[in-house]
Amino acid sequence: MSISNGRGQTLLETPAVPTRREKLVNSPVAGQKRILLAAPRGYCAGVDRAVIAVEKALERYGAPVYVRKQIVHNIHVVRELEARGVIFVDEVEEVPKGSTIVFSAHGVSPMVVQEAKDRELHAIDATCPLVTKVHREAVRFSGQDFHILLIGHDGHEEVEGTMGHAPDHTTLVNDPDEADTIEVPDVENLIWLSQTTLSVDETMETVRRLRTRFPHLQDPPSDDICYATQNRQVAIKKIAADCDLVVVVGSENSSNSVRLVEVALEYGAKAAYRVDYASEIQQQWLDGVSTIGVTSGASVPEVLVEQTLADLADAGYRDVEEIRTAEEDLQFSLPKELRKDASGQLDQRALGGRLS
Ligand code: SF4
Repeated sequence: MSISNGRGQTLLETPAVPTRREKLVNSPVAGQKRILLAAPRGYCAGVDRAVIAVEKALERYGAPVYVRKQIVHNIHVVRELEARGVIFVDEVEEVPKGSTIVFSAHGVSPMVVQEAKDRELHAIDATCPLVTKVHREAVRFSGQDFHILLIGHDGHEEVEGTMGHAPDHTTLVNDPDEADTIEVPDVENLIWLSQTTLSVDETMETVRRLRTRFPHLQDPPSDDICYATQNRQVAIKKIAADCDLVVVVGSENSSNSVRLVEVALEYGAKAAYRVDYASEIQQQWLDGVSTIGVTSGASVPEVLVEQTLADLADAGYRDVEEIRTAEEDLQFSLPKELRKDASGQLDQRALGGRLS
């Protein structure tokens, strides 16, 4: 399908999901072939909102719309939006003055917001509200003179954004081992916060080890690891031990997708792999495999899971049972810059969710 930007220009073709050159082969195995499909999986409310925000920005302002960093960590979503006129940049300084820029779901530091103002950009903030909650905690606790131990991964955009809200009051703790060695300026007034997309178990282990060194360490008022990350981990834990193989659909820079592979292995899957597309599934992964678990990270559109199921059906895995461990109905309202349409009316999608 080709897309016009509403100003008479035809944009690129929307990229299709890549398909395999050769179908997977249906080899015999001992036992019945089946798929356990984890639920919840795929898009969370924050990702859905961020992608809709970019789509609305394209509709309203026309291409190009600039997005700082990947709007969500999924290569297919990024390629689709690029084909529709989105230009992804690493830094605000790459955006021409006066343009429209969207900040990604992972959030930005106040410095980035200021840079956008200085360049007179029209900024739309698609930061997930659950990341904004962590930002607010960082501001609040640093204002109360706490030192914050932020459990998260060095270099991840969300971590950079959160640290930017309390740069002089935050120490990053990457993993449980680092908990044994980090130094803090104040052992009395300490609180921990975390990135939203971590392994729940590993984070609790990091906290446990921090607390043995810093007994006064305080807990955050509520979970920072978000509902979507937790729900997807609970679902994969439920099926992992029954699986000879787990396939996680998700991109390599998607923290919650990578965690799903780790959690699957930790909870008993005999093998687990992450793929961007079903076409990356290798024939030899299926050798002797009767039960395959399938799940996807929080930034993965369901079409990529459907392609995975279709490819595995070619290999004889046609018996699909969905194992659901939670219902999700959370929706977030659109970023405030997009809630009203050009005539000032509340936009149909202002309260979140797709109209499909
Ligand atoms: S994974 Fe969690 S924090 Fe990240 S966008 Fe989704 S709901 Fe928000």
